[in-house]
Formats: sequence, structure tokens, C-alpha cells
Amino acid sequence: MGRAFPFTSERIAELVEEERLKHSSQTLEMLLSIEGRDYVNNHGKNVKLSNLVGKTVGLYFSAQPCPPCVKFTAKLASVYANLREKNENFEVVFVSMDKNIDDYLQCFDSMPWLALPYDEEFSRALARYFDVQEIPTLVIIGPDGKTVTKEGRNLINLHSELAFPFTELQLRLLQEKQNEEAKAYPSSFDHVGHHHVLNLVSEKSGGGPYMCCECNEQGLGWAYQCLGCGYEIHLKCGREGEEESAGKK
Ligand SMILES: [Zn+2]
Ligand SMILES: [Zn+2]
Repeated sequence: MGRAFPFTSERIAELVEEERLKHSSQTLEMLLSIEGRDYVNNHGKNVKLSNLVGKTVGLYFSAQPCPPCVKFTAKLASVYANLREKNENFEVVFVSMDKNIDDYLQCFDSMPWLALPYDEEFSRALARYFDVQEIPTLVIIGPDGKTVTKEGRNLINLHSELAFPFTELQLRLLQEKQNEEAKAYPSSFDHVGHHHVLNLVSEKSGGGPYMCCECNEQGLGWAYQCLGCGYEIHLKCGREGEEESAGKK
């Protein structure tokens, strides 16, 4: 019988409060250590969890075979390499959702970062703690050990390494930068890849999260849109028709 039985409103409120306290006192070491195991794996070597304290750490819930995971692992690896090159205090720890250790090893082999040792039960408990609904998921833990965001995957897809350190402030700065850049684009134009005129939209004027029909990557906020067709592309993915651009020269 679960601890919540019977599901009185008092008991539920109690559990919610327990959960809140657990998250507010959260530290990286508390999250990742178990029964004296205080390290993660670096392709054969152990790395003490204490070495990760003070860094921004992405907990990467992933597995194979999973095509979206393969795609995102490649994207994350390039962002990881760029951030490390710039000496940013960023680390990633693979939390395996694999069903067996062979899949885990093969999956980890494709990753340039660290991993929790294979421990299905522990990984699933961690996924439950963060309410991970799908893989891949990238949960970002800040230098103080608190959760910054569970939207690491979307943020990396949208902004690549510019998303770092994934804070509200950084996202607001990116937003302002995009608003500034959008001023240089015409309010409508003939895109070579679509048979209707496209309109410049922002999040406030009918835009929103979308998949770019040109490059198949995620977009958010500013876009060129044909509302009738549900056709949307990144500003940078718009290409003017041959005649038009030739005429302007
Ligand atoms: Zn695009
Ligand atoms: Zn159209």
C-alpha cells in the first residue's frame, strides 16, 4: 500500500509539502549519490561528485534505441564542446534510461561527457523526482545545486550554446537580442520555398513555438508565417525569390 493511502486532502498536502522541502534543500551530491557511492563515471575513470559542485550540470535522461535521443545527443555534444572550449563551467551527466547494461555502454560510448554508473532503479527514481515525461530530457542544475530548468533540451535546440547558463536572465537577454535583430527584417516577403507571401510575426502577434518548415529545427517567438497553410520558418531561414533579389541589385 502506498504511503498516500488513504488519499485524504491533508495527506496529499503533506506529501506536496514534503516534495517541496526536498526540492528546496536539493544539492547535486544529494541527487546523485547513493549508499556511499559519491562518484560518476568518465569513460572508465571515476570522478568525485564534489568536483562537480559549483558547475552548471545538465542531467541527461536518454537511452537507445531512440532516434530523438541520437539526434539530440549530437546537438548537445557540439554545444558541450563549444562551451568547454570557452572554459564555461558546464558539465553533463548521462542518466541512463536503458533497459540493460549493454545498451547503456553503447549509448554512453557515443557521449563525450560523464555518466551515472548503470543502476536502473536509481535512474528511474531520479526521473520520477524530476517528473521526466519523455526522453531525451535535459534537466539543468545550477552551481548552487538547485534546479534551473527542465527545459534544457528545448533551450539548446532553440539557442545552442547561447542558452548557457539557462537562467531566466539569460533567456530574457536572448529575447531582447532577437527583438533587436528582427527590426532588420521586412514585415512581409516572398519566400522562395512557399507559394504565398509570408508575414513577420512575433510571439505577441500570432507567433509562438513552431517547427521551422525550412530547416526542421524548433523555433520560438519571431518567425515568417503563412497562417492559412500553417507554414512557419525562422527569420534566418527565409530566402527571397531569384527574380526579386536579382531585381534589387
Ligand atoms: Zn529554420
Ligand atoms: Zn501559404
